[in-house]
Amino acid sequence: MNVLIVHAHLEPASFSSALHLAAKSFFVQMGCSVQVSDLYEMNFNPVASASDFNDRANPDYFNYALEQRKSLSAATISAGTISDDIKAEIEKVEAADLLILNFPLYWFSMPAILKGWIDRVFVSGKFYGGKRIYANGGMAGKKVLVSVTTGGREDMLSCSGIHGDINDILKPLLQGTLGYVGMEVLEPFHAFHVPYISAEARADLLDKWRSELATLDERKQIDMPDLSKFDEYFFPIE
Ligand code: FAD
Repeated sequence: MNVLIVHAHLEPASFSSALHLAAKSFFVQMGCSVQVSDLYEMNFNPVASASDFNDRANPDYFNYALEQRKSLSAATISAGTISDDIKAEIEKVEAADLLILNFPLYWFSMPAILKGWIDRVFVSGKFYGGKRIYANGGMAGKKVLVSVTTGGREDMLSCSGIHGDINDILKPLLQGTLGYVGMEVLEPFHAFHVPYISAEARADLLDKWRSELATLDERKQIDMPDLSKFDEYFFPIE
């Protein structure tokens, strides 16, 4: 199995980084081929801009998604005009059977560097486009596991808690991005309240992470919209 771990934490000694390293050693020990995009370490540029295209399809009016699509209209990505850093990340995602996104929760979302990685790498025309979404998305057949650490307690990030359920909070990522491009979205791994719990409780979380990685084949998936319930224009079928 080919695994790509995309990790977004500033501090190599952080708990989030420990989760990333534990996942990396787990999959290496399992004999998987593991690639890592450690976004801060790579100094990944998260800002989508016109300079992402070596040659603009429309120099008069900039439409990012259209430029993405045109940059791929050459037969292969390597022949296209999209910048090399994006090309390299697309190739990593394409090679992966399992993608892991590992990050601390920032403002009910992901760190901007990871959001920017998605903005620039999940290119229109390849990952999605036209009616190729959800089960028909360009990344159908791949699995994805989100691993997130939080400052908030589990009860605060639950259905009855003050903030609501964490998977609802992460819906823009889980459904609006990963499910949208066709990936099978596994139930995320949550490490709650990480800075405020004991070192022993954190060690238990790392053990839980390792044992959950060992049973990914049985892991529940998050439900995505069923395309058979919508017509070709995505209106619900009565
Ligand atoms: P760290 O602080 O790096 O680690 C906690 C402790 O674990 C440290 O003492 C570290 O030394 C120790 N540790 C490291 N490795 C190990 C190991 N192997 N075993 C045991 N212990 C270890 N939180 C929310 O809940 N909701 C939000 O919306 C939110 N928004 C935020 C926005 C911003 C901009 C920021 C900066 C933070 C936000 N937070 C939020 C808090 C953030 O999500 C948490 O601080 C973060 O998830 C904690 O994880 P960490 O990896 O950074 O922990």
